[in-house]
Amino acid sequence: MIPYGRQSISEDDIARVAAALSGDWLTTGPTVAEFEEQFAARLGAKHAIAVANGTAALHLAMLAAEIGPGHRVLTTPNTFLASANAAAFVGATPDFADIDPVSLCLDPDALAEQWQPDTRAVVAVDYAGQTADMPGIAKIARRHGALIIEDACHAIGGRFEHDGQTWPVGNHPWADMTTYSFHPVKTMTTGEGGMIVTNDDVLAGRLRLLRNHGMTRNPEDFTGLSTDEVFGEQGPWYYEMQALGYNYRITDLQCALGLSQLQRLDAFIARRQEIVARYNDAFADVPHLESPGLRNPADAELTSWHLYTVRIDFAALQTTRTEFMTKLRERGVGSQVLYIPVHLQPWYRETYGYGPGKCPNAEAIYPQLLSLPLFPAMTEDDVATVITEVRRLMEET
Ligand SMILES: *Cc1c(COP(=O)(O)O)cnc(C)c1O
Repeated sequence: MIPYGRQSISEDDIARVAAALSGDWLTTGPTVAEFEEQFAARLGAKHAIAVANGTAALHLAMLAAEIGPGHRVLTTPNTFLASANAAAFVGATPDFADIDPVSLCLDPDALAEQWQPDTRAVVAVDYAGQTADMPGIAKIARRHGALIIEDACHAIGGRFEHDGQTWPVGNHPWADMTTYSFHPVKTMTTGEGGMIVTNDDVLAGRLRLLRNHGMTRNPEDFTGLSTDEVFGEQGPWYYEMQALGYNYRITDLQCALGLSQLQRLDAFIARRQEIVARYNDAFADVPHLESPGLRNPADAELTSWHLYTVRIDFAALQTTRTEFMTKLRERGVGSQVLYIPVHLQPWYRETYGYGPGKCPNAEAIYPQLLSLPLFPAMTEDDVATVITEVRRLMEET
């Protein structure tokens, strides 16, 4: 069966990891630093901080921004749980604003409507790879002095157009921190892994501290608060814990894979764009099926597509999504539903009293969502199979 997503591992990737395995460091060594440098350099950004996974990246972003109890964090319901959970990790209240029906990303107008006096941060998600309306979101957030985190787990290597200029996701004026995941289903992988990118020196410093127990061995950073004669002696062993941090480190092994995958990223993105273009052509005339919409048509060639999510009017076809997916699977084509609106998850209902009616667009669109296979290792035959089987099933149904 053709899965909806899959990693692509080459002989070079394997060789690079094997080389790291016989190096002196298995955990945080020079390969972590090299991966961070190359990732930041690709974006022209100042700091990249590599961490254990994309969820840790979001958690650390909240901590670095000093978001906590009494604060509200607005995000989109059409995302993976972690985008919202991160606010709850630090004792803040995750809250949701509706999506725009074209991009399926956070709608700036809905954001303005949902804004409360205690809102301190926004987590915008680049759903399926398409950049959220970051300038529109920033206009509202900046007016209120709130911090902007862009969850770019879907948009690794993506770019977007604004006012005639092209910007890389991860380095533009409308986000304070950008987070990434390198889970195998994402556009490039380190097994498990994540990254936070920022141009802010203070945030970067906090992120580095918090990823490693809030602990520093750098004499320049010592507070000297332990000044008593015995416990303040700053010998070669000396370290200070200056904040309550975590072990969110990533390993040299993982970053070796990351470095190798980073070299292949442009090829991954190009192949994904090719497949998306073929799908768009093939599905253009299919009734009751809508290909992914673009908020800004100029982004067609700039987007790093992670998902190919179509909208199918299953009700008009007099079928159910379950039946459709099952039949598709029987014909060798996997698919997935991304995402169940987060505010409708049992924990969110129980904890915050959220329920249906909160995000009408997201709730109306959710029953139509279906993500079809999209990954660089797909052969032309795979792409043809997906097209043929989806079209056939649509006609039969
Ligand atoms: C994958 C993903 C995450 C979580 O990343 P992990 O590395 O799995 O922890 C967060 N947000 C979005 C939008 C994602 O797709």
